Amino acid sequence: MSKIFAVANQKGGVGKTTTCVNLAASLVANKRRVLLIDLDPQGNATMGSGVDKSDLEVSGYDVLAAELPVEQAIVSTESGFDLIPGNGDLSAAEVELLNLDGRESRLRRALAAVSNRYDYVIIDCPPSLNMLTVNALCAAHGVLIPMQCEYYALEGLSALVDTITQIQQTANPDLKIEGILRTMYDPRNSLTSEVSAQLQEFFGDRLYRTCIPRNVRLAEAPSFGKPALDYDRHSKGAIAYLALACEINRRHPASQSSNKKNRPVA
Ligand code: ADP
Ligand code: MG
Repeated sequence: MSKIFAVANQKGGVGKTTTCVNLAASLVANKRRVLLIDLDPQGNATMGSGVDKSDLEVSGYDVLAAELPVEQAIVSTESGFDLIPGNGDLSAAEVELLNLDGRESRLRRALAAVSNRYDYVIIDCPPSLNMLTVNALCAAHGVLIPMQCEYYALEGLSALVDTITQIQQTANPDLKIEGILRTMYDPRNSLTSEVSAQLQEFFGDRLYRTCIPRNVRLAEAPSFGKPALDYDRHSKGAIAYLALACEINRRHPASQSSNKKNRPVA
């Protein structure tokens, strides 16, 4: 059964999409079968995976709002992971979902059909705690929270932790905080170490040991529609996400492909 992670933080620009695309590619490099779901109407994870968001036949919208079988929304990427792409249509899904039955659990029900095809399903959430994010949190086993070590970051985290607690108490009692990931990390900044220490104190071993450094290759790669691993595999950013994939695999030893293929058979 796949492990499903929602990559969430209602703050924009903290590295959610960068983490999704690069973690997906790094898990594939570790022979894991991965499905990435772009639930952000901005479609950045779609573009960053080399798929044109303006030229989609189907997308996550059709899965959520029209109950299209999930297999029919999956496309493969050159980096070896599968993708359910997203674009502006997801904004309509967000509104339409409000009037539908079982609106929080649409994604969870849809994903049940492919749960033994993948080792990991990674969901890129929009920068808000809206119905799309709630669908991701209801479908997920764990929430991966990317954050920058800056002063207001901790304040923003409490709203997300409250939402996670609410979902635990209602739709998804097994939901866990999978991990807190420090992104755009600059150890020379004294505030960084201060915030880091607070995160360590509050989240303990749920704080990933891997930190993602600020690295220009990570920012450049999306304009080529590639994860950093396929753009400059020796870059600090690519290497950091490989380390994160290893750390996650160590936490989930069961999520290991029984076959050595890194691509799911469609
Ligand atoms: P979010 O999805 O949370 O809005 P993104 O992943 O899109 O955040 O990142 C915001 C911006 O910062 C993007 O332009 C991205 O390329 C850049 N970025 C993300 N992580 C890094 C990093 N570690 N080093 C340098 N730039 C980064
Ligand atoms: Mg994003």
